[in-house]
Amino acid sequence: MNYSESREQSAEILRTVLGHMGQHDAAFNPVSFAVWYEHVAGINPGLAQALNPLLQAGTRLTDATVLQLFRAHVAPVEQQTIEDIGGRFSQTMVGLAESASRTGADAGRYGDQLDGLEQALRAGGVESLSPQLNRALEDTVGMRSSAQALQQQVVTSRAEIEQLQGELGRVRHEALLDPLTHVLNRRGFDQQLASMLAQVPQAGRTHCLIMFDIDHFKKINDSHGHVVGDRVIQALGEVLRASVAAPSCSVARYGGEEFAVLIPQSTPGQGVALAEVVRQRTKAMKIRNRKTQDVLLTVTVSAGVAGMRSGDDGLSLIARADAALYQSKQEGRDRVSCA
Ligand code: GH3
Ligand code: MG
Ligand code: MG
Repeated sequence: MNYSESREQSAEILRTVLGHMGQHDAAFNPVSFAVWYEHVAGINPGLAQALNPLLQAGTRLTDATVLQLFRAHVAPVEQQTIEDIGGRFSQTMVGLAESASRTGADAGRYGDQLDGLEQALRAGGVESLSPQLNRALEDTVGMRSSAQALQQQVVTSRAEIEQLQGELGRVRHEALLDPLTHVLNRRGFDQQLASMLAQVPQAGRTHCLIMFDIDHFKKINDSHGHVVGDRVIQALGEVLRASVAAPSCSVARYGGEEFAVLIPQSTPGQGVALAEVVRQRTKAMKIRNRKTQDVLLTVTVSAGVAGMRSGDDGLSLIARADAALYQSKQEGRDRVSCA
């Protein structure tokens, strides 16, 4: 879903959103903000259908309800949109904090002026003005304290939002990792592939993709069980992490026992050399019985390397690396081919 509201429109929406948020029990965080924003902007019919009956029944929304609404009706938006919401919310809060602090300062100055005026009037014996003056003074004190309270609340909310944004960043990063091997998952791979393809190769360079697939992995599962199979997958993940050290490169678990490595600004020769290192380290690896330390098995891996060519997109690059991998399998496994 796209947010197409202008800065002015969104500021108007923000005021209404803050009003809603203040009437419910959920925390002032980006999740709650996103739910109210979409509701107030009238851009999320599914959310409206779920939320309107709750509001009509006078339900005060808790963190849990807001999170549920967010997951069901707001979360399916793209990552970028979530980032935009967080960024805009934070920006708006900064603006709000500044204006609240200005209001507080103005109220303070106004109060000081009135104090001085009252003293001057009392000294001049103008007692008849006192009732109006007292009211004005009370109003001013009230205005000053409410502005200060707003300022304090905004400062607190900002700190909470910053903390939540940090947590959101961590969660977002974890969502791109494979829990078994701690390398990127398929989603992380897709993102890194897109960002690699968006780079223009330097003179004499291209972008390389290597696909790895463990040889005869079904047999490993069949003879040693899935737990040992998982340990083999983890071990290959470690070999890859240790072998692919350059920060510009990415390692991902592409599927079951298949891994992918992205090497931006490289040559197919460099891709083949790296795949060869991984192949040899994998072959040298020994999976041991955890108790007895006896060697249970050794494994081999096949690889396919493809360098990006003009006219390539992600799919055609993957297809060529896959074709090279297939060639490695056809020619006897435990080898590296390049297409
Ligand atoms: P090849 O040499 O041709 O690659 O033979 P292969 O036996 O490895 O063939 P294939 O790639 O078709 O088999 C992959 C197997 O990996 C099938 C599936 O049961 C297993 N597998 C997929 N994901 C996992 C996983 O997460 N853990 C375990 N233990 N096994 C998995
Ligand atoms: Mg496979
Ligand atoms: Mg396999």
